Amino acid sequence: MLRRARLIRIRGIVQGVGFRPFTHRLAHRYAISGWVKNGGDGVEIFAEGTIGALDAFADALLSEAPPAARIASTDVADARCEGLAEFEIRESRPSSRPTVRIAPDLAACDACLRELFDPADRRYRYPYINCTDCGPRYSIVTSLPYDRAGTTMAAWPMCDFCAAEYHDPANRRFHAQPVACPVCGPTYVLWASAAAEVRGHDAIVAAATMLRAGSIVAVKGIGGYHLACDARNADAVAALRERKFRKERPFALMARDLATARTLVAPDDDAFDAALLSTARPIVLAPARAVFAGVAPDNRELGVMLPYAPLHHLLFAAGAPDVLVLTSANRSSEPIAYDDADARRSLAGIADAFLVGDRPIARRLDDSVVRISAGAPAILRRGRGYAPMAVATVPSTRPLLALGGDLKNALALVVDGQVFASQHIGDLDHRSAREACIATIRDLCAIYAVRPAELLVVHDAHPEYVSTALAGELGAPAIAVQHHRAHVASVIAERGAWTTPLLGVAFDGTGYGDDGTIWGGEFFTGTVKDGFERVAHLRRAQLPGGDAAARFPVAAAAGFLAELDDLPDLTQAPFSLGERYAAARELIAHDVRCFATTSLGRLFDTVAALLGFTRPMSFEGQAAMWLEHLAAAASPAGRPTYAFPFTAQELDYRPLLRAIVADRAAAREATQIAAAFHVAVADGVTAVSQRYGDVPVVCSGGVFQNGLLVELLRERLGARAWFNASVPANDGGLALGQAGLGAFASGPASF
Ligand code: ZN
Ligand code: ZN
Ligand code: FE
Repeated sequence: MLRRARLIRIRGIVQGVGFRPFTHRLAHRYAISGWVKNGGDGVEIFAEGTIGALDAFADALLSEAPPAARIASTDVADARCEGLAEFEIRESRPSSRPTVRIAPDLAACDACLRELFDPADRRYRYPYINCTDCGPRYSIVTSLPYDRAGTTMAAWPMCDFCAAEYHDPANRRFHAQPVACPVCGPTYVLWASAAAEVRGHDAIVAAATMLRAGSIVAVKGIGGYHLACDARNADAVAALRERKFRKERPFALMARDLATARTLVAPDDDAFDAALLSTARPIVLAPARAVFAGVAPDNRELGVMLPYAPLHHLLFAAGAPDVLVLTSANRSSEPIAYDDADARRSLAGIADAFLVGDRPIARRLDDSVVRISAGAPAILRRGRGYAPMAVATVPSTRPLLALGGDLKNALALVVDGQVFASQHIGDLDHRSAREACIATIRDLCAIYAVRPAELLVVHDAHPEYVSTALAGELGAPAIAVQHHRAHVASVIAERGAWTTPLLGVAFDGTGYGDDGTIWGGEFFTGTVKDGFERVAHLRRAQLPGGDAAARFPVAAAAGFLAELDDLPDLTQAPFSLGERYAAARELIAHDVRCFATTSLGRLFDTVAALLGFTRPMSFEGQAAMWLEHLAAAASPAGRPTYAFPFTAQELDYRPLLRAIVADRAAAREATQIAAAFHVAVADGVTAVSQRYGDVPVVCSGGVFQNGLLVELLRERLGARAWFNASVPANDGGLALGQAGLGAFASGPASF
């Protein structure tokens, strides 16, 4: 039969995800000869075979691609037959810059899980089972190139059985770097104070038994340690909160399987299942159906994830409670512990036992957090399973490092125009997070072979940010980008719409403005290419105590309500705003330590305070989240609203605050007031948008983590409303926007 040849180029995330061995297996199936190799931005395949076989091969390449592959485009061209006899995996030519892409960590695949629970399999109950379709990647890489010696598996030479699989192109474990088995690989150990050390599967059974008995167990996972306990055991949950110094911030849950997860939350669509089951296995937030005392106080949502490490599956199979609290192991808001000695030290007194795997973790990776809003997943925290994937491309050939913000810090490194987003790092006011940030900069630069000296550094314009100081210490040229412009640019960068005229809407808690005041309710026009001009904003208020007062909704209330006349005494019922409110009013009356702000986040805090959230917040954004959940509890019928007029380039909050005070005094339902406030904010944005023509309304900033607000804006603006998809709307997405603006600010860009 006549043989033809084709050259197939596939772009996207196809390196480090088992694509070449997969191609090799397909070639066998269809009697194709030729080769596959990694290219600059994907894989190249040269294929010879009959026309029918070539067509079937090309179809299967797309339809059966490995789970972690993300194919962006394919390109098929006829080529000259070379009469090759075999199909081989070729090494790629070394390019000037090794653009080796490290894949993110992948959840255990179905094939591995079948083996894990098959008593006849060599890897029966082996917690480090993996293959090219699944298993750790970024969390085990210590150096490049990505081979066994450059991973934390280097200390475990493969046995003959594993080596045979590793070298067999027809095998699922062909070139699976972390391949191991009970004979040659690492295992788990349980350290409990009273008991002797237990190893192997007995350790997992013992840990499951302790969990059932109400103990708190530190469990080493993929990107760090978790603290686990029985979610249905209120005493265990309370003990965990107390020992961890974590007052109210919700804990994430791990459910033993999808059916169990569905009993915990009431998701409204298939997008929930898809997110839960995605290879990143993030924590997915959804409205709660079940109630667990102390897990998510005052919260209408639960964060649920499914098992992703083989160890998790084994724990459940060994009898662990079917719903576990599984929270990052750390004290308060420090970064997650990932080093064994460090974990033992810092978690002593919190954990009753440690279930510790031998395989070291190369870098810390928190669980990612996703929320489904209006049927589309929105990433709230980018960590394990996503990092260090490229999130966008920018037109820049120069290596560029964007440092993000000080809260929810995350970095972005641009190499050859690809924006690689780091994992969530944490709040830089903690020393350990600062150290983690510096380590991540070194790490990313090492992986992508960038010398810090050749970088252009982009940082926030806040003169007192830790990240700004860090930028100065890197010894590279640096440029500052205003916080809210970076938020807006992060959405643009995801879509590559650099020259699209738009209306940018940046709503968040805080950020340093051009005029040195605290911004957070800003409207911009322009393009990323030519720059953004601030054209409108929330009407100003005073913030007594400045950013330091951001923990106190009643202080924000004092500032915003000071702009209104004829208020009732809000220290009295039903408001009862308390001492701190009165003290803040005093500061304003005497203009002491008061700072001007246009922050929408503080307006949310103000309304939350008026509706009963009068205590200090125990984590950032808590009052706004509380208010959203209150609003979500309202019946949507009729959806009343408040006036939020746009005049003289300002959104004036005074009418709505006056109405809220009156409604509350008249004992109107708090849920109804909260809902009407959300509608008013959406109407306010819509009113502003009507002044700027039919351009995209580009919304970013922490306030847009609010699912209800996003839904209301989608209702009003339809496809005109653009939101973040690949990076968080909160400060975790800032670095991408900085990278986009930095690429254009740094000199003439080419298109
Ligand atoms: Zn697998
Ligand atoms: Zn082995
Ligand atoms: Fe922000």
